[in-house]
Amino acid sequence: GRGVAMVTAVAARLAAHRRLLEETLAPFRLTREQLAEVQAQMREAMAKGLQGEASSLRMLPTYVRATPDGSERGDFLALDLGGTNFRVLLVRVATGGVQISSQIYSIPECVAQGSGQQLFDHIVDCIVDFQQKQGLSGQSLPLGFTFSFPCRQMGLDQVRKTSGSGAGCCDNRVAQQLEASFFVQAVELNVVAIVNDTVGTMMSCGYEDPHCEVGLIVGTGTNACYMEELRNVASVDGDSGQMCINTEWGAFGDDGSLSMLSTRFDACVDQASINPGKQRFEKMISGMYLGEIVRHILLHLTSLGVLFRGQQTQRLQTRDIFKTKFLSEIESDSLALRQVRAILEDLGLPLTSDDALMVLEVCQAVSKRAAQLCGAGVAAVVEKIRENRGLEELTISVGVDGTLYKLHPHFSSLVAATVRELAPRCVVTFLQSEDGSGKGAALVTAVACRLAQRTRV
Ligand code: BGC
Ligand code: MG
Repeated sequence: GRGVAMVTAVAARLAAHRRLLEETLAPFRLTREQLAEVQAQMREAMAKGLQGEASSLRMLPTYVRATPDGSERGDFLALDLGGTNFRVLLVRVATGGVQISSQIYSIPECVAQGSGQQLFDHIVDCIVDFQQKQGLSGQSLPLGFTFSFPCRQMGLDQVRKTSGSGAGCCDNRVAQQLEASFFVQAVELNVVAIVNDTVGTMMSCGYEDPHCEVGLIVGTGTNACYMEELRNVASVDGDSGQMCINTEWGAFGDDGSLSMLSTRFDACVDQASINPGKQRFEKMISGMYLGEIVRHILLHLTSLGVLFRGQQTQRLQTRDIFKTKFLSEIESDSLALRQVRAILEDLGLPLTSDDALMVLEVCQAVSKRAAQLCGAGVAAVVEKIRENRGLEELTISVGVDGTLYKLHPHFSSLVAATVRELAPRCVVTFLQSEDGSGKGAALVTAVACRLAQRTRV
């Protein structure tokens, strides 16, 4: 009768919605072949970048020539520069381990708005204050710091921020101002090392684990560094020994090589970003963008009538309302679908009973692709190291930092699974970094001091 007809109609509508959902998410489901292709292209881009040929990977030398060997000793200062405040750290590397004391200093609005010189003076004042409080007045301890944008280095303590850099830097006024004066006047402080945040991450894990020769960040942005053979680095003299290379892999694909994988949603996110056409790999992987990819998919599914009763809302059209932390929450195994619904209702989305499950599936597809692409990148890096060393099997550790990697319930295991699949001859351990910008910066400095001592002896 009528009842049966209605049930059949509802079932047919649900089946149609399912099909549309599957069609929409299909381009996010990468095959093993596609991932292997990403790995191969990444390898090629790495090789070209190292040789100084045109490549979307800049492969920047960092002048970090060794990871910690555990024999480092001494007191070091580290600077951790944030947007509205910064930390000064005293890092004591002693026989018993690494001990850290730190203090947070704010950057007053007027200083942040002022000249680079004012900012530099403020930072120096704070360092002097910190040294006083620590009973270290008058000493000029070696200082290191990390930052999260690309820079072309001429030496361990000499940098020039490169143009066309990642999103992370462009809206960081403080970092830009620092560039103007801090780097030039670094001599006022005993600045020994200035390194990318990936390097700090690798070094912070390297003190406990000598196999840690890769640094990985998956947070707001993404990037990786690793220990390369100097003979493969065309832009740096010398053929023996190693050097840490900052791959700047966020820019992978900026030459169009990822276009086969790029969906219409990736294109939307890219077009609306502050740097269209740039950081294409990063825009498929990192925390700054995943929520936006999800939001664009939800908009599309709404326009198809699959979600939210087909009602377009102001809320969903608002940029960045879908925070990447929602992906982590929504995908958390301990969360019942009812709680997923609550999160979405909080966002002001007009839910029907089936919507929560579909939104969950969208989130899963987007974060899984991100983790697998990241894994393909790591596989390229560790395979390069294995081949460099002519090893049948490589045992290696990767130091990792970043909120997406650390907070998302499945991201890390998906990265590891992809690496196992694509780099079967590498035994890879992932270590979560603790305080790469503090401890890591100090250890970069400590290693540089150890190497300098060795050459003096
Ligand atoms: C920057 C890298 C940085 C990474 C992680 C990227 O946007 O280009 O230099 O290492 O973010 O913070
Ligand atoms: Mg060389």
